[in-house]
Amino acid sequence: MTGDKAAAWIGANEGDAIGRLVDWLRIPSVSTDPAYKDDVRRAGQWAADHLRASGFDVEIRETGDPDGSGHPIVLATSEGSPEYEGPHVLFYGHYDVQPPDPVDLWRSPPFEPVIETDEHGRERIVARGACDDKGQVHGFLEAMRAWKETGGPVAGGMKITVLLEGEEESGSVNLERFVAQNKDTLGACDVCLISDTGMLGPGRPAITYGVRGLAYTELVLHASDQDLHSGAWGGKVPNPITELTKVLAQLWDADRRVTIPGFYDTVLPIEPAEREAWAKLGVDVADSLKSIGFGPEADVGETGYAFIEREWARPTAEINGIVGGYTGHGAKTVIPDHATAKVSFRLVADQDPETITESFFAWVRERTPAGCRWELIDHGGGHPATVGTDSPPLRAVRDALAKAAGTEPALIKTGGSIPIAGLLKRELGMDTIFAGFGLENDRVHSPNEKFDLDCWRLGARTHAMIPEALAAVRVSRS
Ligand SMILES: [Zn+2]
Repeated sequence: MTGDKAAAWIGANEGDAIGRLVDWLRIPSVSTDPAYKDDVRRAGQWAADHLRASGFDVEIRETGDPDGSGHPIVLATSEGSPEYEGPHVLFYGHYDVQPPDPVDLWRSPPFEPVIETDEHGRERIVARGACDDKGQVHGFLEAMRAWKETGGPVAGGMKITVLLEGEEESGSVNLERFVAQNKDTLGACDVCLISDTGMLGPGRPAITYGVRGLAYTELVLHASDQDLHSGAWGGKVPNPITELTKVLAQLWDADRRVTIPGFYDTVLPIEPAEREAWAKLGVDVADSLKSIGFGPEADVGETGYAFIEREWARPTAEINGIVGGYTGHGAKTVIPDHATAKVSFRLVADQDPETITESFFAWVRERTPAGCRWELIDHGGGHPATVGTDSPPLRAVRDALAKAAGTEPALIKTGGSIPIAGLLKRELGMDTIFAGFGLENDRVHSPNEKFDLDCWRLGARTHAMIPEALAAVRVSRS
């Protein structure tokens, strides 16, 4: 099999490949800070050159309004071998990174990658973007290069479109418009493949088949037209902090279920087989709680659902911030004129962020405290996305991963949100498969971000195997 040949080439040329990753990581492609605008473009250009060298047709597409005010999208295609009858793959990744701050907490400069060996003898590369997402995307890029270098067809013969974004870490502000404007090109793809998630642990590869959605809101409760003396006015008029917290306290019932009418209407029950499979994954609840400073008694959430079930299959409501009144040193007896709370919801199954936000705002309005007035702000969000574990493309990717790893991958979900997956599902009816290689201790978004070289190797080998695995899959498009 030629996939094996490509994987062997990656092994034999690893030093050069890691050298290329180091070059890419040296480019500080921080998308949120305008000071790095040229560097972000350079990092996109770097990926474009890499794909071109592997035989792809590559375009750099400007984004934003006016055109070019955003960071560019790298769009690369390969038509596939004439005999390829598998799905047209959309590979999505991002080449921008989070800011490195706080810089003084890094052991080595964030954009001067170093290879370290940890206490278990495992090698890892340390730099901003080492895992999220340059390191993961780079495994895919090297697999494409390997196919070319070993004389195989471009992209292993797959029909593939590659979309690399430069704004993921700054909210993907131009992505939705780009997808809408390129519906014809992107809509021709059958399935999306993303390498930006994690494994269950070292040596425990996994495919992620579901991400949660998100709805993010802010409530401001306005009361008097000025701050008040609590002796003169307390007990005579509403205190917006007190009233706001009384309303928010009604958001959960005694079973910690969200009380907004209709909130659970489109949530699907957990299938018994799924419940059983998750229980068998052997997630250590006490250990997980310990890693964040809790004892086992902190295993607290919606009644009737286990620890991992509450993360993977149940929606939640959280107060993410609450501000009001006097928060400085010492005492100040004030009744403020307003109080604010940030409230967000993680969503599952068919829950729609706009509908959830609307019903939450209606619920809040019904509880308007006497004498007060709400200001309700919608901060947006994203749709949840799940792909069936019996989906033929998912099975094929799982087979490729099993072959590359020499062990059967786990099927997992994540409680986090990757809005592109929901966007593709909603706009184009496309499923997303997440084959990711990160570890929980990779410190993504934090100082000393790292990626284990074993994880990089597994990613590159898996992507080398995927074209042949997918070639055997037949998709019927409705
Ligand atoms: Zn990230």
